[in-house]
Amino acid sequence: MSVQHAPVQRADFDQVMVPVFAPAAFIPVRGEGSRVWDQSGRELVDFTGGIAVNVLGHAHPALVEALTEQAQKLWHVSNVFTNEPALRLAKLLIAATFADRVFFANSGAEANEAAFKLARRYGHEVAGPEKCEIISALNSFHGRTLFTVSVAGQPKYSEGFGPKIEGISHVPFNDLEALRAQISDKTCAVVLEPIQGEGGVMPADQAYLEGVRQLCDQHGALLIFDEVQTGVGRTGELFAYMHYGVTPDILTSAKSLGGGFPVGAMLTSERVAKHFGVGVHGTTYGGNPLACAVGEAVISIVNTPEVLGGVARRSERFKAALLRLGAQYGVFEQVRGMGLLLGAVLGEAWKGRAGEVMKAAQEEDLMILQAGPDVVRFAPSLVIAEADIDEGLARLERALARLTGA
Ligand SMILES: *Cc1c(COP(=O)(O)O)cnc(C)c1O
Repeated sequence: MSVQHAPVQRADFDQVMVPVFAPAAFIPVRGEGSRVWDQSGRELVDFTGGIAVNVLGHAHPALVEALTEQAQKLWHVSNVFTNEPALRLAKLLIAATFADRVFFANSGAEANEAAFKLARRYGHEVAGPEKCEIISALNSFHGRTLFTVSVAGQPKYSEGFGPKIEGISHVPFNDLEALRAQISDKTCAVVLEPIQGEGGVMPADQAYLEGVRQLCDQHGALLIFDEVQTGVGRTGELFAYMHYGVTPDILTSAKSLGGGFPVGAMLTSERVAKHFGVGVHGTTYGGNPLACAVGEAVISIVNTPEVLGGVARRSERFKAALLRLGAQYGVFEQVRGMGLLLGAVLGEAWKGRAGEVMKAAQEEDLMILQAGPDVVRFAPSLVIAEADIDEGLARLERALARLTGA
């Protein structure tokens, strides 16, 4: 017996959903590669990748196979038992990174929540209750739980919810002297995104990350890299820290790790992991067999020279075209980011209008993102066909031509 579906429309959203989102005017119903179809059969090119999630596009055959194969076997057992896909995915992540240990969660916010709690526990156990301060960057984003909005440097997400979590301070990103002035032996962790994603696709400087690592070592503070957006091949390396050659003590991953199936992970060293003993932290769904089976397929496919090497090639194609469009229509003045996490920075006359560009693109059957009001963001599938890149950019050009009246 199968479930009968009642018909639904976009207008229903405004009646039945808690109004924290304002989704587009259409409802996607099917996807294949980097194309998406809506209820009316309209076809769109997808440059959003579900916000840096659909790392292998929609309905990738290997991910469909991994999910359906696991779905026939075992969906869930909780962490009262371990399971084979979780152990296999953990081993893959350990083999590919600095990490010795993995904790699985269901989202980026949960992976960060685990990281921040672990850092505090670590500080408490190695130096006592005073070593509890966390330093993060202004304009950073780490998720939407109370701890993660308190740590992130964006007041619009953290104010108006009563008292915040204490012991957190914020310093300007890419400003080593500001961190030097703030860090002390009370600092248990410094948390950074190697490229600030939501904050406008802003990469860290090489010398900054190297200097941050040194300051953390001098003060016995853990360095946490939030790679929820930059991880799993997005920058052309498996994780962005590998570009910089600066190794964190804790790394969080989510988004692309599940390729569209919810999963998160916190990676760390043996030295740090031992402070999370039995019962100190937990989750019901984290490490779920379905999620980990998909994650295993994602990592196996992404962590190959073919896929990672292809990111750089596609990135060049994107960047060159965006710069040309920027010069021609005078909307963008700069393209920044790495690999397939790119931000087109709006020029003076277009400041604050990223949402308008996004809407105009949708009207031309193109899905794109913004990263704050001043940056148009692109985070497509890492295996997007070059023909889809060109078609999407042609649609973007039509949107820009219409917006500028050119
Ligand atoms: C998206 C994001 C998160 C939050 O992940 P969720 O899965 O939405 O909880 C955390 N950190 C960064 C850097 C992100 O981009």
